[in-house]
Amino acid sequence: MAKECAVCGKTISLLEKSVKLKYAGAHLCTACGHEAEQLLYGARNLNNVDDEEKLNDVIGDIKENFYAELKKSHYSPYIKSILKDELLYNIGANAFRKVIIRKYFRAGFDEADNAVYEAGKSASETVLKTDLVKTDAFSQRTYIFEKMFLRTESYTSLHVDIINSGGITIITTIGAGGGDGYSNNDWGTEKAFVSDFWRAMRAKKRMFMEKETEIDNPARIEITKDGFGVTNRIGIFGGTFDPIHLGHKALGEAALREGSIDKLIVMPAKVQPFKQGKRVTEPEHRFAMAKLTFEGNEKVEVSDYELNNTTISYTYDTMKYLQGIYPDKKLCFILGTDSFLMLEDWYKGIELLENFSFIVGDRPGYREAELDEAMLKYKSKYGTETIKITADMPDISATEIREALKADKSIDDLVTDAVERYIKENGLYN
Ligand code: ATP
Repeated sequence: MAKECAVCGKTISLLEKSVKLKYAGAHLCTACGHEAEQLLYGARNLNNVDDEEKLNDVIGDIKENFYAELKKSHYSPYIKSILKDELLYNIGANAFRKVIIRKYFRAGFDEADNAVYEAGKSASETVLKTDLVKTDAFSQRTYIFEKMFLRTESYTSLHVDIINSGGITIITTIGAGGGDGYSNNDWGTEKAFVSDFWRAMRAKKRMFMEKETEIDNPARIEITKDGFGVTNRIGIFGGTFDPIHLGHKALGEAALREGSIDKLIVMPAKVQPFKQGKRVTEPEHRFAMAKLTFEGNEKVEVSDYELNNTTISYTYDTMKYLQGIYPDKKLCFILGTDSFLMLEDWYKGIELLENFSFIVGDRPGYREAELDEAMLKYKSKYGTETIKITADMPDISATEIREALKADKSIDDLVTDAVERYIKENGLYN
């Protein structure tokens, strides 16, 4: 099959001397690959260093030089990331060292979990998901990808350990191992699988990739809660909440669990701009129902800031106001797919996308592919960071609840018991 250059997309002719990025699984045409070849030269020829003592210094120099030159290069962030991998794997293979690359993803646990599983499936014929271990501080899952080798009738287990805390997922190890998965990972044993795995992972979830580090001994991995558990992020969940329902509750709680935030501010809107002209229940009732819904959750604050405003509540203005109150915090706006897809049309939507982050719940009834496309588009146009929550959201809307109440139907599986009681006691939505 004809190969395509990963940089310019041109078809590489059979006679052309292309540059093969063996571990990243990519080819570059002669013109695009020339610079890459220079960048990787030192790492590829490490086995010519015969003095063991000098090896570390040589590796240090190679890396320093590589990163300086890479910075100056014209490659896209994606090609830069695969060149970095290529360098590290080359060092691992040529210096007879164990190299572990930890990849950090800003993504919900389930999303990262699925991506790992799917990438494993693309790379291996037999994939078994195994061992779920949870601790208080963070969760850890271990996968074992079993790959059968027919010739020897034995098999190698490949471990992929992912750890997640507050929306940050770290893939700590992937490699073949015997006995103890942490200390006996060896990149060399199953190079083909490892490169296939990362290639599949990139193809599926390019936008996840955030940061990677290299260590030379997997037994030295130390992950503490403090290292990545505290996020310095606040989530703001705005809506008409007329009434607030179990879909809202699920999204707010999932944002706390998976969205990398320490605190959730629920912000009922006085007049939601797109709902002008419609009758909206009095502010004090919507505020009271929001409080009842999140009662007992210390991480949640229900704010009456917008309700007390005399003017229309625009999300951009509210976020600016909150940023003034929390100058050191990163603010993330929480919303469902329907709202997320429309963000560019909001008042100062572009500024909103440029200045703040988003946590989005995949609302039932909307195509997930559309959500993924929008996330990619916002990222490339405005640099917007978005975390997608993949916990299932119940298919509930406030409209459905108002209609059920008008028709005298039960709403007991649509809102919390306390809200149901409140609606009855106050004779709302009759
Ligand atoms: P209505 O039916 O009156 O339009 P709604 O149920 O959509 O109301 P809003 O108050 O407009 O509720 O929603 C606030 C935010 O919550 C929006 O960003 C919306 O996308 C999100 N949201 C609402 N319901 C769900 C749900 N079931 N799952 C995920 N997100 C939801």
